[in-house]
Amino acid sequence: MQEEVRSKIQRGLKTFQVGKYEKSKAIYKEHATQQNPDILYIGCSDSRVSPEVILDADPGELFVLRNIANKVPSLKKNEMDPTTMSAIEFAVVVLNVKTIVICGHSNCGGCAAALSGEKTLGTLPYTKQYLEPLKELSEKVTREAFDKTDTEKARMMEEQNVLKQLVHLREYSFINKRIEAGDLEIQGWRFDIGSGKVERYNEKTDSFRPII
Ligand SMILES: [Zn+2]
Repeated sequence: MQEEVRSKIQRGLKTFQVGKYEKSKAIYKEHATQQNPDILYIGCSDSRVSPEVILDADPGELFVLRNIANKVPSLKKNEMDPTTMSAIEFAVVVLNVKTIVICGHSNCGGCAAALSGEKTLGTLPYTKQYLEPLKELSEKVTREAFDKTDTEKARMMEEQNVLKQLVHLREYSFINKRIEAGDLEIQGWRFDIGSGKVERYNEKTDSFRPII
C-alpha cells in the first residue's frame, strides 16, 4: 500500500513538472519572489474541496487557509488559534486582500462531528477541543431542525457554520475597519461536492443561492 502511495506521489510530481508547471511557467516566474493575491480563501481541510480546483485558480491568485470545518476563532469569546489568526492577519494587513471567502461544503465531517458530539468525538480529544466552539451552534441546529431529515440537518449546520464564521471575521478590528471603508468584502459560500456547484449567502434573501 505504501508503495502505491509513493509511486502516486512520484507520478504526480512528474506530471506537474512537465505538464501544469511548463504551461504556467510564465506565471510561476512572475510570482517567484512575491505574491499579490486578491482573495483570502478560508475553507475546510477536506480532500475533496480544493479551492484552486474549484476556482480554476492560477498560482498567486489565492491565499489559502484550510482547517477542519473552515473555522475562524471568535475574538469576543477569547478563542485562541494563532495558526488561523496569523494567516488571516497576514492576508488582510500585509497582502491587503480585497475579498475574504469562507467556504463550507456538503458532507462536511467536521460539521457532522460537531452535530453528533460525544458519539464521534469521544476518542478524538484534540478534535473535540477544537470543535468545542461549534457546540452551541450544533445544539441550536439540533433544536430547530428536530423534524428535518439528517441531510437537511447537515446542510443547515454547514450553512449556519459559514455564517457564524463571517460574524467572527467582523470581530477583528483590522477587518471590520476595511469593510466599513468599503475596501474589503467578505462572502459566505457552500460548495456541493455532488454537483460541483457553489452557492453564496445572500443577505437580502437570507439564503444560499447559486453563484452561477
Ligand atoms: Zn469539511
